[in-house]
Amino acid sequence: MLQLGVHVSVAGGLERAVDRAHRKGCQAFQIFTTNPRSWRSRPISAETARLFSIRLKGCGLETVVSHMPYLPNLASPREEVYSRSVEALTDELLRCQLLGIPYLVVHLGSNLGAGRRSGRERIAEALQKAIIDSGSEVLILLENSPGTRNSMGSTFEDIASIIESLPRQSRRLGVCLDTCHLFAAGYDIRTPQALERTLGEFEGCIDPE
Ligand SMILES: [Zn+2]
Repeated sequence: MLQLGVHVSVAGGLERAVDRAHRKGCQAFQIFTTNPRSWRSRPISAETARLFSIRLKGCGLETVVSHMPYLPNLASPREEVYSRSVEALTDELLRCQLLGIPYLVVHLGSNLGAGRRSGRERIAEALQKAIIDSGSEVLILLENSPGTRNSMGSTFEDIASIIESLPRQSRRLGVCLDTCHLFAAGYDIRTPQALERTLGEFEGCIDPE
């Protein structure tokens, strides 16, 4: 069944996002669990986690998605940014786990001119490390990018090759298709037929396992 929802604000406390989504009649919703424009994240208290899950259960919402902050770059060739990015991903997986959020949307970043192969290897290593270190059950959703210079994941082939770079047992991965990015990257979704074709191409590329 198609579930519809929006990104909701967490102003005033994470748990308030649940009420906002519920009031809007959402069947799914997305949040930032922390300030998306900062490297620092405030720890989630046990009380916040408790309130968040109580409210989720209370309104029967299950499809909850967190979106990674914007600063981490999992494809970066620069050591310092890279290791902070892997740490941020591990931290966010743990935050999701604590809140009972089953999905985390992740941007694939930019290889900053180091090449697609380097970018792909960096991302695969980052994903694997964060999945293992966090021990989390959260499903990471790789988001397609609009295809600006050096950005990773703007084509279905690129996303597929990143997924295939991980050993099968670490592939706790899905894909988040951003329709704006899809269109910017050159995929036609302007008519029902074009959308159908593009989604067919996607399914032909990404191994459902
Ligand atoms: Zn995004």
